[in-house]
Order: sequence, then structure tokens, then C-alpha cells
Amino acid sequence: MEKFDLGIVGGGPAGYTAAFQACKQGKSVVLFEKDEIGGVCLNKGCIPTKTILHSAEIFEEMKKASSFGIEAENLSLDFAKVMAHKDEVVEKLRRNLGLALKNSGTVLVKEFAEILDAHKISAGGQIYECEKIISATGSVPLDLPSIKFVGKFVLSSDDILKLKTLPQKIVIIGSGAIGTEWARIFSSFGVEVAVVELASCLLPNADFEVSKRLERIFKSKKIKFYTSTSVEKVEIVENSSIDAYLSNGEKINADFILLAAGRRPVNSEKIDGVSYIGDEAGEIQLAHFAIRQALRETAQISYNRNLIPSVIYGCPEIAWVGLREQDLEEGSFQKALYPISALGKSHCDNCIEGFVKILSREGKILGAHIVSKEASALIQQLAIAIQNEIPIEKLKEVCFSHPTYSEGIFESLLNL
Ligand SMILES: Cc1cc2nc3c(=O)[nH]c(=O)nc-3n(C[C@H](O)[C@H](O)[C@H](O)COP(=O)(O)OP(=O)(O)OC[C@H]3O[C@@H](n4cnc5c(N)ncnc54)[C@H](O)[C@@H]3O)c2cc1C
Repeated sequence: MEKFDLGIVGGGPAGYTAAFQACKQGKSVVLFEKDEIGGVCLNKGCIPTKTILHSAEIFEEMKKASSFGIEAENLSLDFAKVMAHKDEVVEKLRRNLGLALKNSGTVLVKEFAEILDAHKISAGGQIYECEKIISATGSVPLDLPSIKFVGKFVLSSDDILKLKTLPQKIVIIGSGAIGTEWARIFSSFGVEVAVVELASCLLPNADFEVSKRLERIFKSKKIKFYTSTSVEKVEIVENSSIDAYLSNGEKINADFILLAAGRRPVNSEKIDGVSYIGDEAGEIQLAHFAIRQALRETAQISYNRNLIPSVIYGCPEIAWVGLREQDLEEGSFQKALYPISALGKSHCDNCIEGFVKILSREGKILGAHIVSKEASALIQQLAIAIQNEIPIEKLKEVCFSHPTYSEGIFESLLNL
């Protein structure tokens, strides 16, 4: 029986981060991965979708190139190449990760693993004895009681990455991060998109003004959306398309439906003495949260669970951290909302859509909500400020460079 200080099941962001940290501390580590290292994030989530989104953004920019003095004739989209490029990026990062794991001294076992008790793992017909065990087996797409994943007609976010040809019409169920990002991708590629959301607004976890703005952005991009609406049933039509029957009585025909209604942890049973982290823990299903949990588990680096940023990619990006306006009692807070169109940089880049919204009380920031190009990077400035309770008056003393989108943060601070 092989013995290790740490056994980790699952080679996604949670699992590999735990492996790197433990190896740094001189521990012997065995990591089990039944599929590809990098987990959902690298193989089916963050990286492939953001790579395709980048192609979509280039395509959108190229359509407008002429107004910036750049003539690009015969612009066309090669969807197969877009997908092949995505595969290349994923493969390159996977190779790098594999090499980094090898260099760290992690023993990688490419097998399905079963945790037997707090110190034993069974994989590939062998038993591994481990001083400590971390389970980081992640999550899988969730279907609905009335709508199941069906071949080429009701797809999950995993299935959609295997598409070879571009559809003409699609329905997306769910307007969370996954639904919104795919709506943006397909609409940029000229696909007719309809998003159906059960909640009363798009991006139901966002600040209400962010949701409203996304509705405006969807309208401007001609992305059809339905809120407070469900898909009650679906019917495949002559094995060539699918009808979605909505709760409002409408019927939409599409090439396929992307069901993006959430994800469920792989394992629900927990064994005493084993640590469960990442998506499997069933808390916040984000790669950076999985990484934080791994760091807390292995390197005792703490985090504030209430200050995990959320980002929705695409043009413009959407990001937030901390409290939303609807979480606060009326009259108990100050609010600044600064339009991105008032910034010089947004005109240089022709990206004038969006705002920086900051909520504060007694001179400290409670929450920040940004719709803007570069929002994914901007939100970190505010996350640092909130987490460290830096007074707004001190933040006003910081010099923000010009012309940048950061100036939107500075201008908002001046209004508080
Ligand atoms: C389309 C999409 C886009 C996303 N975009 C973002 C984003 O932009 N930003 C962000 O922060 N998050 C994003 N996420 C979420 C992010 O991918 C997950 O939060 C993250 O991957 C969770 O990491 P994890 O290590 O907990 O689990 P996972 O990444 O799911 O890894 C778990 C691993 O465990 C392996 N495994 C499971 N059971 C066993 C077993 N018994 N034996 C051996 N191996 C096993 C699996 O094969 C898998 O590789 C996205 C997700 C999706 C689906």
C-alpha cells in the first residue's frame, strides 16, 4: 500500500491548488483525476468559453472596423476554426498544468478514485493510505424535472463545446453567467437567440440596476429575452429542430436548447474527517472560490466569503462585489453611479456602455457594481478597498491614471 501525506480526489482548480501548496510545504501528495487535469474550469468552463468569447468580440469589432479607418473586406466567420482555436488554447494550458504538477512533485494518478474512509482511497485496483484526504470532485450540469438533456436538441454547457456547426436559432434556459455568456457569443456570431429566465429579471443574482442594464444591452443586440417565464415542455420536430413551449403561451422553434439552469455537486455523501472543497462543497460555484478554499485548507490563508467577486464576460463585462442595493434598507446608505460614457477612454475604445456604481455607509464601501470594458480587472480595486475597510476619504487621495476606466471608480468616490 502506497503512503502519502495528502491524497486529493479531483484535478480541477481546487484539487491542483491544494496539490501545489502541499508540495511547497514538503508534503508527499497524490492527486487522482479520472478525466483531464484542470477540471471543468480548464476543459469545459472558464477557459474554453472565454476563448470563444474573445473570437466573438474580435468578430464584432471587425464588423465596425471601417469606422476606425480599417478596411477589412469579405469578413466571414469560420466556426469550426473558432472551436479548433479554443481546443488549442485548452490543450496548451493543460500541458503547462501537467508540467507544473510534475515539477511540483505531485504524483498524478489518472484513475477514478473512491474515498473509503478518512485515510484510504481506492483507485485502479490499489489502495492509497493518506494522512489527510481532500475531496474536490466538482459539479456537473443540472437538468430540470420537466426538461432533460437530449442528444443534439437539449444541450448542456459541456455539449455545446463540441458543436461543429453554428446553429441559426437557439433558446437558452437560464440567464446566469453561463446563459448570458453564451447568449452573447451566439448573438455576436449572428445566431437568433432567445433567453428564458424564471426570475423576474436577467442575472437574478446581480444588483437590480445591473440586471436592468443587461436587459438594455440585450435589446440593443437584438437578443430576445423573457423574464418571469419558464419553459414548460419541449418537443422535437421531425428530428431536425425543437419547440420550446413557454409559460406565457408562446412557442419558440430552435435548432437546440441550451439548458443553463445550474450545476449540482458530483458527490452528496460526505465522510467524516475528509475535507470537501470547491464546487463539490456546494457553496459558491466559481473557480476563484474553489482556489480560495484550497488555500485555506492547505496554507491557512483565510478569505471573506461575502467578498467573492462575480464576473460576467463579454462586451461590456459585468462585475460586482459586496452588497447589492436591494440588500440594503432604503435611506441607510449613500450611492454614486457614474456613467462610463463620461470617460475619455471609453470613447477612445468606442465602448461607452455601462456604469460604475458604489454603495457606501459612514464613509466605507459596502458594495460595488460595474458594467464596463475591463470590469473584471476594475472590480479588484474595490474588493481590496472593501475587504480592508479603507475609508473613502483615503481612497480619494489615490491618484488614478488618465485616460482609464479606473477613473470611473475615482469619479464615483468623489460623489460619495
Ligand atoms: C461554462 C462554464 C463557464 C464557467 N466560467 C467561469 C468563470 O468565468 N469564472 C469562474 O470563476 N468560474 C467559472 N465556472 C465555474 C468553474 O469552472 C468551477 O467553479 C470550477 O471548475 C470548480 O473547480 P473544482 O476544482 O471545485 O471542480 P472541477 O473543476 O469540476 O474539477 C473536479 C475534477 O474532479 C474530477 N473527478 C470527479 N470525480 C472524480 C473521481 N471520483 N475520481 C477522480 N477524479 C474525479 C473531475 O473529472 C474534474 O476534473 C464556469 C463553469 C462553466 C460550466
